[in-house]
Amino acid sequence: VLCYIFNMSSKILVANWKMNGSLDIFADYLKDLQKGYDFSNTQLIIAPPFPYLNFIKQKIVFESIVVAGQTAVLWNDGAKTGDINCRILKDVGCDFVILGHSECRINNTFNDGIASDTVKSALNNNLNIILCIGEEIVSERSDDVIIEQLMSGIGEIDKKYSKSIVIAYEPVWAIGTGITPTAEQILQKKQIIYAVLHSLGFIDTKIIYGGSVTPENAQYFITNAQIDGFIVGKACMKADSLKELLKYVDYATNL
Ligand code: PEP
Repeated sequence: VLCYIFNMSSKILVANWKMNGSLDIFADYLKDLQKGYDFSNTQLIIAPPFPYLNFIKQKIVFESIVVAGQTAVLWNDGAKTGDINCRILKDVGCDFVILGHSECRINNTFNDGIASDTVKSALNNNLNIILCIGEEIVSERSDDVIIEQLMSGIGEIDKKYSKSIVIAYEPVWAIGTGITPTAEQILQKKQIIYAVLHSLGFIDTKIIYGGSVTPENAQYFITNAQIDGFIVGKACMKADSLKELLKYVDYATNL
């Protein structure tokens, strides 16, 4: 397995900036974030808009901080105006790519039909993957939806890549809404994800949670839902707030 591997015992925090930020904002953010930084137990993955990737990469001084693309297309280089593939992400310094975020599924730049080929393209380019899955609404189909998304993403992937893939359980109804599931609800979904992973031989794959995580609820989730970390949108965009989140995640690594 050629992908960059951090430390398997570490927790993960993904800072998904979505379509936000500027050169000035990221310069200040990296400076404030890294002042007195002592969260080396946690793999921090910053996912800015594409044009800022290399700028941020150049400003990172800690080995435990890396950058990720927010999405990628499955194609090799060629006539695809406006698209970004995994080779390009790797070339500008990414160690990870986020695939299957619900905002990409909703705008139809990602779907279950292309999930497997996109995962393969990321692995072929030595990128680790944050694969996002999650039901749009709570219904009796919820469990089937996450099983389908999981199987279409990694059902055909060799289990030797289990360390290179992180599953982010993100119920769509919790993203950006301020509404969160209970720890019990996350645990129930985690068990289903875990059962699928095990049936595929993916024993080293981490499971993280995303959806309206804040410094106020992070400790509750990390201790009660026994997850390997978070993917965070809104609450990652201020260095102080991100450091608060890191405090809880980093501490949980030692539990
Ligand atoms: C996300 O975009 O992955 C996310 C979890 O956003 P928020 O934290 O704002 O709900």
